[in-house]
Amino acid sequence: MNNTQNYPRGASLDELVETTRVSCAGNGISGHPKVYYDLNEDGEAWCFYCSKHFILKGSSADNS
Ligand SMILES: [Zn+2]
Repeated sequence: MNNTQNYPRGASLDELVETTRVSCAGNGISGHPKVYYDLNEDGEAWCFYCSKHFILKGSSADNS
């Protein structure tokens, strides 16, 4: 599976995570089928369904 994702930064939803494998089922009204993603080498992943942006805590993508 090609996991290359090319979404722009600054997606509407950011979630800080502590594992490189994450799941997303959307949120509330805008829910979607549960899917799993592996974070890329920068520690980021974006959900194809809801554009949620996952950021690995302490990674280069973590600006907090
Ligand atoms: Zn999602």
